[in-house]
Amino acid sequence: MLTLMRNRLPPLLCELHAHTTWSDGDLSVRELVDLYGGRGFDVLCVTDHTLRTDDPWLEPQDRDTFGVRRDVHAAYVSDVLREAGRAHAMYGLLVIPGTELTYNADCPEGSAHAVAVGLTRFASVDDGLDGALETARAAGAAIIAAHPFDDEPWPDPTRRTRRFAIDPKLRRLAHRFELFNRTTLFGWVAREGLPFVASGDFHQPTHLGGWKTLLPCEKDPDAVVAYLRSARPAYVTRVDDALPPGLTGSLIAAEHCRTASAA
Ligand SMILES: [Zn+2]
Ligand SMILES: [Zn+2]
Repeated sequence: MLTLMRNRLPPLLCELHAHTTWSDGDLSVRELVDLYGGRGFDVLCVTDHTLRTDDPWLEPQDRDTFGVRRDVHAAYVSDVLREAGRAHAMYGLLVIPGTELTYNADCPEGSAHAVAVGLTRFASVDDGLDGALETARAAGAAIIAAHPFDDEPWPDPTRRTRRFAIDPKLRRLAHRFELFNRTTLFGWVAREGLPFVASGDFHQPTHLGGWKTLLPCEKDPDAVVAYLRSARPAYVTRVDDALPPGLTGSLIAAEHCRTASAA
């Protein structure tokens, strides 16, 4: 086992699902980069919401201004890519642009969100989530089913996103599924044997802790997206405290592997 682990790349500590002021996050892209970079993460995917233009969960006056709409998409991607350069230089943090393709309906069974990691073109959800996911897959993005509720409790039960749990056809469009979103466990994902990840769904600094993903691949955007699209195993770990200064996510992940190898 030890020999096997020595030949592998140290896993990257990844936040695969994070929001900024481009949608409903509290921090700008720059502030998000400084937070995750300063905490030793290796990979940060910025995944702000793209919603239906008639989203039923939004107030009518917000529908023309909220989220990553077609008219601001290029500026959003530019902002993320500009910060990606700074993140690499300052922290060695790999920042990958993406979008949370967000389809809200009047009932939980019709609602589903999916994070498209590496998506840099606009994908509209106005004609349904399925078409948007097909567009994102064809563009080379990795699709992660976000907070895929079944019967897990949520403060507002009408706002659970349940369609992935009840619709096998939609499920086939996702490469991975959130087994954990922060500290909420979606047990049916494990019971079904689906490929999983864990994400923070970051909106505010209290969301920095919780379950995260470790990926044993090169620290390169194409390699991370390709790994997520593949059937190779991802690992999950819980990170609750600020990582000690100077100790990078890779080193912590390597420590996890040594511990696992020794066990
Ligand atoms: Zn969501
Ligand atoms: Zn989200």
